[in-house]
Amino acid sequence: MTRTLSVAVLAGDGIGPEIIPPTLDILDRAARLAGAPSLEWHHVDAGAAHYARTGESLPVAGMDIARGADAILLAAMGLPSVRYPDGTEIAPQLELREAFDLYAGVRPIRTVPGVPLPLADSRGASLDAVLIRESTEGLFYCRGRTKIAEDDSFASDEMRLTRHTSERLFAFAFDLARQRKAAGKPGRVTLIDKANVIGSFAWLRRIFLETAERYPDIETECAYVDAMALNLVRRPWDYDVMVTENMFGDILSDLGAALMGGLGMAPSADIGDSHAVFQPCHGSAPDIAGEGKANPTAMILSGAMMLEWLGHRHDAPTAVDAARMVEHAVSAAFADGALLPGEFGGSAGTAAVGQAVLERLG
Ligand code: ATP
Ligand code: MG
Repeated sequence: MTRTLSVAVLAGDGIGPEIIPPTLDILDRAARLAGAPSLEWHHVDAGAAHYARTGESLPVAGMDIARGADAILLAAMGLPSVRYPDGTEIAPQLELREAFDLYAGVRPIRTVPGVPLPLADSRGASLDAVLIRESTEGLFYCRGRTKIAEDDSFASDEMRLTRHTSERLFAFAFDLARQRKAAGKPGRVTLIDKANVIGSFAWLRRIFLETAERYPDIETECAYVDAMALNLVRRPWDYDVMVTENMFGDILSDLGAALMGGLGMAPSADIGDSHAVFQPCHGSAPDIAGEGKANPTAMILSGAMMLEWLGHRHDAPTAVDAARMVEHAVSAAFADGALLPGEFGGSAGTAAVGQAVLERLG
């Protein structure tokens, strides 16, 4: 077993530098308590503020640190006031996903009891589903490639779905459904698309069903994205593993975050065959940056996902134990309903939430 695990840390912009310190404290302590390999943090300066200062959003040296690390922990990147010349926002997280081929964006929709939730139905309080968002192509393929007619009469963007990425994405979803089934979950994968209107999605559905043949023990289902927007609000407890294209996944992850109470509760991981980035579903929240109000829970839970992934990858079961400890500490901190981050109308700021979780680690 390795004795140390190296992690590139990209705090980034806005609330990023506020939610990283409590997260690193919690991960360090959990690793120590679980007897896991110690975590070596390598800080990388990148993002919109860095671009405004230097003209580079993610320097080559930072990219090299990220490439050489065992995992990448990223808080948030981008500020509405700082843009590339074409008007799009600075988004090194998208560059990392493309550079390291991080095709599987894993977004758990798992509720934490004690957190105020939007759904009145009590079944909404025990959700445990996962949305997998393809993270390298799809409708985001057009980034930096938009065509605007010379006479300004139209603009067009291309969507691209590839067989190579789609097959790996679906295999990832089915493997996850199988692991979850072994732990008592339904064992079902729902493909979310718009195959009734867009031909590429009809093609994608065919690839999905081809992959499904290799997993006869897993149920499959295909659904249109508009219907899923309705169903995820009306009966989210009916879903197990969902898989979808990049942009649909971007939109539905925010819906999933709302089902958990808010963006400050929603962790995520972007996983490829050799690298992975762990970051909250939310962005840099410039409207509350600098006020110490941000809820660090999504960041902390993303760190737990990182420990789990590292543990499986490096044959270090103690790192998986540390991940479980962090998740339990988060649950314990919120359990009695007294810990209310600003996001839920309460007064607990970033430091208070971080401290509450740290104390529950023991
Ligand atoms: P991105 O394009 O990177 O997804 P975004 O424009 O969708 O970013 P966010 O930065 O995610 O926007 O913020 C959306 C809203 O959610 C803002 O009002 C923000 O303050 C709030 N928010 C986001 N993250 C948190 C958090 N951790 N704690 C509290 N509020 C948050
Ligand atoms: Mg967003």
